[in-house]
Amino acid sequence: MSNSVDINNMVWSYSRLDAFCKCKYSWFLNYIEHKPQIQNGFSLYGTMVHSILENWAKGVILQHELAEEYFRQYYQCMTLPIPRMGQNDLNPKYFQRGLDYFLNFRGFGEKEIITSEYDFVYSYKGLRWRSIIDLLVKDDQDKVFLIDFKIWADSKTNTYMKEHVRQQYLYCIALWKFLKIVPDSIILEFPVRGDCYIEKFDSKRFHESEDWAFQTLDEISKETEWAPTVDKTFCQCICGYREICEHCPKKEIKEMKNG
Ligand code: SF4
Repeated sequence: MSNSVDINNMVWSYSRLDAFCKCKYSWFLNYIEHKPQIQNGFSLYGTMVHSILENWAKGVILQHELAEEYFRQYYQCMTLPIPRMGQNDLNPKYFQRGLDYFLNFRGFGEKEIITSEYDFVYSYKGLRWRSIIDLLVKDDQDKVFLIDFKIWADSKTNTYMKEHVRQQYLYCIALWKFLKIVPDSIILEFPVRGDCYIEKFDSKRFHESEDWAFQTLDEISKETEWAPTVDKTFCQCICGYREICEHCPKKEIKEMKNG
C-alpha cells in the first residue's frame, strides 16, 4: 500500500484529522478508497439528538415539545441498537437519560442564541477547512459561549476532554475569521450524562490545538503504510468498516452445545 495524499486537494476538519489518529487504515478506506461506511447505534443516537437540539435552537421545536419529539424520533431513527459494551446493554440507559435531559431541558439560562449548526468553509494557512458549530450563545454582557453536544456518556477523562475541546479551539479560527468573535468559554454539553464541561478560552490551548492540527497534517502528507489500529471494542462495535476490514477482530460466537 503506497498511496499518498496531496493535502492541498482536500477540505480539512477536526474529524478528518482525528480519524487519522484513530486508525490510519480506516482513513485510507474512507478518504483514498472512498469505500462506503456502515452506521452504528451511537452515531444514529448522536445525529438524532443533534437534530432535535438544532430544531429547538431554530425555533422549529418549542421547549415543551422536546421530550415528545425525542420519544417520537427515538423509535423512528434508532434502527440500530447502541452497541453492547462488554456485558452492559446501554440502550435502556441512553433512552432514559435522553428522555430525562429533554424533560428537564431549560435551554442555556438567559443566554441569547447567535447561531446553531453553522457550517463554515474557509481558507486558513493555504489549506481549505470546514467547521460545523453546534451552538453559539451570548449572555447579557455580550460574553460568547461556544457549545458542543457530546453523546459519549461514560468517559470524562482529561484526555477525552482535551481532545474534544481541541476540536472547539480549531472552530475558533472560523469564529474569528467570519464573526470576529473570540468566545469567553467553550462548553461541552453531555445530554446522556446530564452534565457539562466548561473551559475558559485559553490562547495557549488554542495554539496547542493549531499545532496538533498541522503536525497531524504533516503526518498524513507523509503516510504511505496506512497501518490498522486494532482496538477490539472500537473495531467490532463502532468502526464504519467493521464488516469489510480484514483486521477487525471477529466477534466470538458462543456455540450452544447439546447435552
Ligand atoms: S475495523 Fe479496526 S482496524 Fe479495521 S479499519 Fe476499523 S478501526 Fe481500523
